[in-house]
Amino acid sequence: MDLTAKLRQLFGFAGFRGVQQQVVDRVMAGRRTLAVMPTGAGKSLCYQLPAAALPGTCVVISPLIALMHDQLRAATAVGIRAATLTSADDNRAETIARLKAGELDLLYVAPERASGSGFAQLLDQVDLALFAIDEAHCVSEWGHDFRPDYRLLRPLLDRFDHVPRLALTATADAHTRADILVQLGIPDDGLIVAGFDRPNIRYSIAPRDNATAQISALMKAHLGPGIVYAQTRAGVEKLAEALGRTGRPVRAYHAGLDPAVRAANQTAFVQSEDMVMVATVAFGMGIDKPDVRFVAHAGLPKSIEAYYQETGRAGRDGDPAVAHLFWGAEDFARARLRIGEVEPDRQPGERARLAAMGALVETGGCRRAVLLRHFGEAPAEQCGNCDNCLTPPAAVDATEVARKYLSAVFRTGQSFGSGYVESVLLGKSSERSLMNGHEQLSVWGIVSAGEATLLRPVSRALLLRDALRTNHHGGLEFGPGARALLKGEGTLSIVLPPVRARRRRGEGAD
Ligand code: ADP
Ligand code: ZN
Repeated sequence: MDLTAKLRQLFGFAGFRGVQQQVVDRVMAGRRTLAVMPTGAGKSLCYQLPAAALPGTCVVISPLIALMHDQLRAATAVGIRAATLTSADDNRAETIARLKAGELDLLYVAPERASGSGFAQLLDQVDLALFAIDEAHCVSEWGHDFRPDYRLLRPLLDRFDHVPRLALTATADAHTRADILVQLGIPDDGLIVAGFDRPNIRYSIAPRDNATAQISALMKAHLGPGIVYAQTRAGVEKLAEALGRTGRPVRAYHAGLDPAVRAANQTAFVQSEDMVMVATVAFGMGIDKPDVRFVAHAGLPKSIEAYYQETGRAGRDGDPAVAHLFWGAEDFARARLRIGEVEPDRQPGERARLAAMGALVETGGCRRAVLLRHFGEAPAEQCGNCDNCLTPPAAVDATEVARKYLSAVFRTGQSFGSGYVESVLLGKSSERSLMNGHEQLSVWGIVSAGEATLLRPVSRALLLRDALRTNHHGGLEFGPGARALLKGEGTLSIVLPPVRARRRRGEGAD
């Protein structure tokens, strides 16, 4: 059968995109496959086309009922005979009858239903073409969205051993991928990974000093539609209000809003050519807006996968777009607290994800290279389209300053905030330092004027590496990373934004 012809006739597409053909060919040959493809790459087609072309029914396991219904509408629209079998459907009896009569190309079910014994018995009476396991990273504890129900799918798949299986995911690092293969019984050579590069997106990452000012500046430079992600509902509200004062149309989106307001805001954004949507990460799933010109993060995303997915909503049309991330040391501290609260056996994955984010924000090298390596690719050293490639930062050995900083934290009793610690290091006398008797300390004024600009970046770097922690009153205390540095075993190199680095070399500011 000519699949390309079928593709044209059914979907009206000129041809396959990226790895679609490779995936579809394997599926048609009955071979078990894991397809890792970024959002928007066209994963659904990889099972919809075989489902339409092969005799029998393709069972799609999908975790979210809302997404299933979207998929159902899309499949039905192109003439594929599809149905969903969920608690939200009141036509279940009819669907089961159609299934048994061989009248369905596609059947969408949730994992908790698929893993039940009743479902397996139902499938005994059905001619099966394929199992498609969507959002397959949910099967892995290494993934960011582990769902125990996915683990229970294996007996079903093995019961119908002869039926090909296709696992699909947009978000899987090397560790998670390997785990998905094992969990779902897919051979190593069944892994197909699409190119993750989004060359038209320019990545920039900078410490946050004033999110409103930084994002307002971004809005001035980019007049097209934009998405600003904030971490909390309160953060969304606050930022939306502040950014609204720039004169641009700004709307908010988070789960706490009235559903009607939320839907209206989303519709307005999709139709607008200059609107800025301030949102929690709940916004963006399933939204098809190709002309988003910028995505800004006002706080740290929870993983590289999340960052990639969220920034990936920019520039779907292929025209230039920018992604700006503004991070703070406190984002890392908060993430560490959260990790401390998750179950012990999920911690290694959570810690690795945070460490990977730390490496991305701290690097003086190409951001894109870090991202693509994370997804298992071997990119060029320099992309020429990220902040660090365009204006290479200077790496500075700040080990000495870091030691002085830690000493000052120690000598003042591990209870003062960064502002005070800095004033001690610079020898800035105040009533407080006099009263505390800190002007007699050996660390009083030991940082030179030339080193002063390094203090903020050094404290950020120490917090990021867990060499320093913040207590409940904002005081700095030692974390596990402090010892090595103090004992002279570790070094601390930091990258400085180009302007500050030039100033340090005495070249003057611009
Ligand atoms: P994913 O699930 O990987 O995020 P979708 O399956 O939702 O992606 O597809 C994303 C968009 O790309 C859809 O609008 C789809 O119609 C379109 N698309 C998929 N495959 C092709 C193709 N071969 N040619 C043109 N458009 C395609
Ligand atoms: Zn680069």
